[in-house]
Amino acid sequence: MPKQAELVVIGAGPGGYAAAFRAADLGKKVTLIDKDATLGGVCLNRGCIPSKALLHIAKTMAGTRELEDKGVSYGDPKVDIGKLREWKQNTIEKLGSGIEQMALARKVEVISGTAEFLSDKEIKVTKTKGKPQKLSFNNAIIATGSSSIVPAIFQQKDPTLMTSREALDVKEIPENLLVVGGGYIGLELGTVYASLGSDVSVVEMLGSLLAGADKDLVAPLKKSLTKDFSDIYLNTEVLSIKKNKSGSWAVKMKSGTSTFQKSFSHILVAVGRRPNTKGIGLKNAGVELSNEGFIQTDAYCSTSVNNIFAIGDAAGQPMLAHKATHEGKAAAEVICGEPSVFEPRAIPAVIFTNPEIAWAGLTEIEAKEKGISYKTGVFPWSASGKAIAVGKPEGKTKILFDPDTNIILGGGIVGANAGDLISEIVLAIEMGADAIDLALSIHPHPTFSETAANVAEMYLGTITDLYVPKKR
Ligand code: FAD
Repeated sequence: MPKQAELVVIGAGPGGYAAAFRAADLGKKVTLIDKDATLGGVCLNRGCIPSKALLHIAKTMAGTRELEDKGVSYGDPKVDIGKLREWKQNTIEKLGSGIEQMALARKVEVISGTAEFLSDKEIKVTKTKGKPQKLSFNNAIIATGSSSIVPAIFQQKDPTLMTSREALDVKEIPENLLVVGGGYIGLELGTVYASLGSDVSVVEMLGSLLAGADKDLVAPLKKSLTKDFSDIYLNTEVLSIKKNKSGSWAVKMKSGTSTFQKSFSHILVAVGRRPNTKGIGLKNAGVELSNEGFIQTDAYCSTSVNNIFAIGDAAGQPMLAHKATHEGKAAAEVICGEPSVFEPRAIPAVIFTNPEIAWAGLTEIEAKEKGISYKTGVFPWSASGKAIAVGKPEGKTKILFDPDTNIILGGGIVGANAGDLISEIVLAIEMGADAIDLALSIHPHPTFSETAANVAEMYLGTITDLYVPKKR
C-alpha cells in the first residue's frame, strides 16, 4: 500500500515552502518534496539571493569609486574571489538552514527526491538516497519552478559557456564576457562581472534592453551601462559560436543585413526561462498546460484537476519569487477551506542594477497596448534634496493616474533603492489610493521616498519643490 499524504507539495522554492508551511499552520499533514540537496529552490540557491549578495558587492565597489570626485579615494580594489564566493555561499546556507528548521518546527515531512505523477491521486518519488517510494495524496501543489532556456547553438559543455547558474558560482573573473540577452538576469550578472573587472558586452535581439519596462525608466540605466559595459548590441542576433585555438569564443552576430565577428573569453546565456512542466507526469494526472507551456490555473491556483494546484514559475508569468510565495499561501488556504484567492492589483518587478528600476501595476507600455486612459505625474530626482546630497540625481519617480478619479493605477521608479521604494506604490494601488492621499501623506525629509509624494504634487499642481509654469 502506498503511504497516504494529506497534502503533497512538489518543489521547495519560495512558492512551495510557503505553501507547505501555511498549510501546516492551518493543520494539514504536509509532505514537501524537492530534488535539490537544499531547500529554497532557484531563488535561494541559484537566483535571487546569490545574485543580490554579489550585486551588493558590485554596488558597494561602484559607490566607493563615486566618492573619488567628492574627495575620498581608496585606490584600486583587490578582489579575493575565494572569500567572495564563501560569503555568498554562507548567505545561502544561513537562509537554507532557517527554512529547514522552520519545516522541522512545523512537522512538515521533507523528502529529498524527484516526484512524478502516476495519476491524479498518486505520485512516485525517486529518492536521492534509498528506494523509490509511492505516495497517495488528497491534494497536491505543483511548485516545480523554471529553468534557463539554452538555444541549440549554446548547447556545448564548456566551463566558459555559462547560464546564470554557473555564473553565480563565480569560478573565475572572465577577461571579456558576452552576455546574451538584455533581460534583468543578464544585466544584473553583467553588472556583477563588470564591477569585478571583466570587460562586459551585451547582445539583445530586440531594439531595447528590458523589453517589458517603460523606455523612460530604462534610459538612465542604459546611460550608466554604456559607461560600465564595453558594447551594447541591440537588434542583434548571435548566429554561431566557435571555440578559437587560443581558447576564446569566436561569436558571429547579425545586425540588420550585416554580419560581424567578435572574440570573448566567456559567454553567459540569459535569454529567458521555461517552466519545469516536462517529465513530471502531468499527462498521467490529467493536468493541462496553457499555450505558453505553463500549468493552467484559475484565481484559486487550481488546475484542470480539482485536487491539484499549481503555483510560482510553473504556473505563469511573472516568474518572480514574491508572486510564487503569495500564490503558495493562497493555494494552501484554499485547500484548507479558507476563503482565499490570488487576485493582486499589482505585482512589483525590480531590476537590481545600478541604478535600480522598479515598477508595479499599470505601465505606459501596457496602457497603450490595451487602450487604457491615464495621466502621468513625474518627479525628476535632480530636484530631490536627498538624491543630490548623495550624488544620485539621475533617477525619476513616475505614477500613472486615472484621469477621471485620480486613483493610482501604476508607477515606476529608476534610481537608488527603487526596489525598496516601489512598495509604497504597491500599497497605494492595493488600497485604491488617489493623488491626494499620496500628496497629503507626510513623507520624511530628506528621503528618496518623498519623491512619491512629489509626483502626486506635480500631478495636482501643488508642488513647491519645483517651479512648474501654469498651462494657460
Ligand atoms: P523554484 O524556486 O524554481 O523552485 C522549484 C523547486 O522545484 C526547485 O528546488 C526544484 O529542484 C524543484 N523541482 C522541480 N521539479 C521537481 C520534481 N519533479 N521533483 C521534486 N522537485 C522538483 N525573482 C525575484 O522575485 N527577485 C529576484 O531578484 C530574482 N532574481 C533572480 C535571479 C536569477 C539569476 C534567477 C535565475 C532567478 C531570479 N528570480 C528572481 C526568479 C525567482 O528565482 C523565481 O521566480 C522563483 O524562484 C520561483 O519560485 P518557485 O517556487 O516557483 O520555484
